[in-house]
Amino acid sequence: MPAVTVDDLLTLPRVNRPDPATQRPRPVRSITTAPRGFEGEGFPVRRAFQGVDLVDLDPFIHLDQMGEVEYAPGEPKGTAWHPHRGFETVTYMLDGILDHQDSHGGGGTITDGDTQWMTAGSGLLHIEAPPEHVVMKGGLFHGFQLWVNLPAAQKWNEPRYQDLKSREVELLTSHDGGALLRLIAGEVDGRHGPGSTFTPITLIHATLEPGAELTLPWRPDFNALAYVLNGDGFVGPDRTPIGLGQLSTFGQGDTIRIAAKDRQESRSPKMDVLLLGGRPIGEPVAWYGPFVMNTKAEVMQAVQDFQAGKLGTIPALHDHGNVDPDDGTDQVGDRA
Ligand code: MN
Repeated sequence: MPAVTVDDLLTLPRVNRPDPATQRPRPVRSITTAPRGFEGEGFPVRRAFQGVDLVDLDPFIHLDQMGEVEYAPGEPKGTAWHPHRGFETVTYMLDGILDHQDSHGGGGTITDGDTQWMTAGSGLLHIEAPPEHVVMKGGLFHGFQLWVNLPAAQKWNEPRYQDLKSREVELLTSHDGGALLRLIAGEVDGRHGPGSTFTPITLIHATLEPGAELTLPWRPDFNALAYVLNGDGFVGPDRTPIGLGQLSTFGQGDTIRIAAKDRQESRSPKMDVLLLGGRPIGEPVAWYGPFVMNTKAEVMQAVQDFQAGKLGTIPALHDHGNVDPDDGTDQVGDRA
């Protein structure tokens, strides 16, 4: 039961089918399978971008699919307080509830199709955790967290928090009414999502009926990525097979194509795909744990500033634990 659903897709505005005579489909460049890992205090994730060069992901850095997992009572987990600097985190929940709070005054509760958009900018501390009543009860937990890089000129921006409710998301359907498109940020076929981003991106959560085919116009100056959250299908002009936990990167062109298999597994009767595109920043990336800067010296500075308490302090109400400098994303990306 993912995120916002619509009973009759035919009531929604339709995205025009791009003209195949003039609009070139973007070819599939790579298909990779996300390894499983654990994040924060131990919630299960799939590392969607693992094995893909940062150059092909630019302006995106990191994507974790959180779950999908059915928790027993007492099992739901979150993160400890930890810092970030130099980029934006985008957290979206399909199922379950996550509370967020940061040291800059941002915070809120997200559930069932809500998005929390946090611009870490010059730096802050935050915590993400299921509320107490969810921990007591357990239940389904499914979402994703995406990291969007900031260009050097905006890495020192004041932190910002956007709480995007599911009702604000722009709902569209494909030309044949076979897919529900939730436009969270950016533009597609002249329609705009509510998310405001420093780096121009397009972010869509698409749900395809079995057998549905989706062709979307895609800005040629953006990169293009498709990650399958649930179900099985095909991507690109040659119908390359893709399934749960797999990422496709696309080459140059004007449109992207996704199709759902006629038969889906009964536990996920529809295909859910995250579609991502952004204008590459094209700057060096120096990445250590929760800090994404341009140079190693800037990363070292971030570590020192964090240790000196310059990224913020835990609000008094929650002052009961140590700050974990590493939120589990123990990867180091570095390219000149
Ligand atoms: Mn975090």
